[in-house]
Amino acid sequence: MIADLWEKKVTISNELRRLLGPKARDAERDPHSKRVPRPCGITIHTGIGCNFGCVYCYVPDMGFPMKPRPYPLDPLQLVYALSINPYVIPRRTLAAFGSVTEPFLKETKERALAYMREVGRWLELPLQVSTKSVLDDEIIESLLSSDRDFSVLISISAIGNEAEKLEPNAPSPEERLEGAGRAVKKGLKVTLFLRPIIPRITDVQAERIFEIAISKGIREVVLGTLRVTPGIIRRLRAVGLKDVVLEIVRRLPRSPRNNSDQVTIRGSDLKKKISSTARRLGLKVLPASCSANILAHGEWCEACNMGPCGSRERALRDVEREASELLEVIGIKFKDLAYDGRFLSVKVRELPKNVHLKTLIEVALRVKAKILVNGKNI
Ligand code: SF4
Ligand code: SF4
Repeated sequence: MIADLWEKKVTISNELRRLLGPKARDAERDPHSKRVPRPCGITIHTGIGCNFGCVYCYVPDMGFPMKPRPYPLDPLQLVYALSINPYVIPRRTLAAFGSVTEPFLKETKERALAYMREVGRWLELPLQVSTKSVLDDEIIESLLSSDRDFSVLISISAIGNEAEKLEPNAPSPEERLEGAGRAVKKGLKVTLFLRPIIPRITDVQAERIFEIAISKGIREVVLGTLRVTPGIIRRLRAVGLKDVVLEIVRRLPRSPRNNSDQVTIRGSDLKKKISSTARRLGLKVLPASCSANILAHGEWCEACNMGPCGSRERALRDVEREASELLEVIGIKFKDLAYDGRFLSVKVRELPKNVHLKTLIEVALRVKAKILVNGKNI
């Protein structure tokens, strides 16, 4: 099975290289052709910059501009870049749109929808988007035609006046939830993404947010902890959230080392409290965004300690056979390979530089992997 998928990947990249001609070179140089997936899958950038101006956003501190523009690759170049990325396997690698920008900004929406359509058509990756936009009929229809099981995360951190302070240019959370309700009715798989959890705001408002989300047909929630930079602390203070800043500073495990250093605040108590509210109201609390993607697609994953997630009947039947097929197609000789029901252990003599075999196995087979190179665990 994995060998068939790998062959499909190679066929697609050959076909696109031929179609693109000299334009293939830009795609080959693009980071999408090399990026190593994060736990949520391979992140796909639909634009550069964002003008929603959320005060808790770390994107400006990463050097991205406030004025958005579409990502420079055209849709087929993007698919080609992904098809030559060693960690992208048709139907297996999770794809996440919207990690460093809002995909449906008016400046980037057309490109974002075209990317989703072409990635779905060529590579059939399980697609997921996180958004603060209002899902209108055009977006809903387009997502459904890109992937019938598209996983949509509606990001909300606060409602009412607090949301106006925190997300000055984004559509109101109430409108976002209205749009989510429309999407649910039309068959999209929508999950509430309660993030970032801003202490003294999100934890206080969570119950009300959940009630509205439930009334719109949402049944699952993912919680996300706040990460701060010095700039975020300054911006929160500037909008008058002094008590919130005091609480955030109290929860910092360490000071940020420089202006772009993101520090995750201590928030497990908040998550615990919010999770129990969610469960009391009947929401299922998922451990991470990838879990929502797996669930939406009726798949199974046990690649990390937060899982397993999804439908067990979709688990791979023969992990060892698939793993040996995978190693064969990527040209890695192994000494031994064994799956004990929890971990796939692979012993090799050597690994080429830049090959993250552990990540590749986790992405391709969705099981935890231990890689031993000459007896050394890497
Ligand atoms: S929508 Fe996302 S990328 Fe844009 S400012 Fe808000 S948090 Fe940042
Ligand atoms: S086990 Fe669940 S949380 Fe972990 S990587 Fe898989 S889908 Fe994500």
